[in-house]
Amino acid sequence: MAVTRTFSIIKPDATRRNLTGAVTKMLEEAGLRVVASKRIHMTRDQAEGFYGVHRERPFFNDLCTFMTSGPVVVQVLEGENAVQRNRDIMGATNPANADEGTIRKSYAESIEANSVHGSDSDENAKIEIDFFFSPDEIVG
Ligand code: ADP
Ligand code: MG
Repeated sequence: MAVTRTFSIIKPDATRRNLTGAVTKMLEEAGLRVVASKRIHMTRDQAEGFYGVHRERPFFNDLCTFMTSGPVVVQVLEGENAVQRNRDIMGATNPANADEGTIRKSYAESIEANSVHGSDSDENAKIEIDFFFSPDEIVG
């Protein structure tokens, strides 16, 4: 299976509870390698641009408010089948539906404050990585 990359965000609910290390440990134990990482405070423009695909959804405004409510850690993860591997360890969007042993089951507070983002396809992974990182910031 090919080694690929995906994009991850440790969301404000997790950074607020000092879970950056705990979440990263679960990612690493799932076979993913952090090849880029930075802590940022997203601007409203960045949040709206990043989540543009959800612009028409009823939760869009609240989501952008949440994502700008505190620091986040944006990361590029590398590993075999990275997109799916990350989605598997993240768990379902709604923590009530997430499997035992997943990040969201372990740490998410709600369907909105669900601790992590992960790309949903190789194509979107590339777009999302390029949104936050320049090539020289990624060291594989
Ligand atoms: P995922 O993050 O699992 O890919 P989506 O792409 O569908 O999920 O949604 C993006 C983010 O929007 C979610 O991670 C969550 O923070 C928020 N969200 C999704 N659905 C809802 C909802 N029904 N109510 C509030 N927030 C939501
Ligand atoms: Mg999504």
